[in-house]
Amino acid sequence: MSKSSARKAFAKPAKSGVADPISIPRSTKRSSVQQVALGEEKTANGLWPSDGVVFDRTCTDCPRLAAFLEEGRKQYPDYYCAPVAPFGDRKAKLIIVGLAPGFHGANATGRPFTGDYAGVLLYQTLHKFGFANKPESIHRNDGLKLTGARITNAVKCVPPENKPLPVEITTCNHYLQAELAAAPKNVVLLALGSIGHNACLRTLGLKVGDYKFGHGAEFKLPGGQWLIDSYHCSRYNTNTGRLTTDMFEAVFARAKALMAD
Ligand code: SF4
Repeated sequence: MSKSSARKAFAKPAKSGVADPISIPRSTKRSSVQQVALGEEKTANGLWPSDGVVFDRTCTDCPRLAAFLEEGRKQYPDYYCAPVAPFGDRKAKLIIVGLAPGFHGANATGRPFTGDYAGVLLYQTLHKFGFANKPESIHRNDGLKLTGARITNAVKCVPPENKPLPVEITTCNHYLQAELAAAPKNVVLLALGSIGHNACLRTLGLKVGDYKFGHGAEFKLPGGQWLIDSYHCSRYNTNTGRLTTDMFEAVFARAKALMAD
């Protein structure tokens, strides 16, 4: 890739909020992934360590995504550019499952939903409902703490155009599976969008066709968990009015009620 085309590939998104696609190298090298400052925060700030079970910051199991990150590190050396760990309370009874890191958001800062538009409403709402000690997430060392809630993604690495391939969602699912295996039996899973919804079901060995995604839909799952859905709090959904603050807060209110169930 020439310098100019690479620059274009990672140009900050314009109004669409979506990065341009890039051409992907054929192979990746694990050694370059390790150039990321590993273990810098360990268990501080609610981030999970790279323990290889619920999360592995050196994972390159998806070649296309690993290559995308490698290109990202070249163009934005100050960005985090690695799989993004779940964030929040390890004993959370509410687990929020998003899609994947955004290139100039979580991929830049290393914390889910931090640094881009999608996190604004999410952290405001978490604070409003008593899950966060602050209403905004700025960077990994800003002192933000979640209590009773955790945020994770169906896919831990940023995908080109915010669109993971089905095989990447499937490949990454074992991390979510490990997270949910460690969660309380009656955990409330709040899925932000259909990919998060489907990832939760796949993780629990349930048929996607038996549980239709819909904003505000809720399901008592056979294992005792609750699954509740919301439209994703993306810039597109909030700007177009598909998801309003009231709609989002109503889902959180319901989730909180289910947690007391
Ligand atoms: S998306 Fe998940 S499985 Fe794929 S490389 Fe990233 S961390 Fe590994």
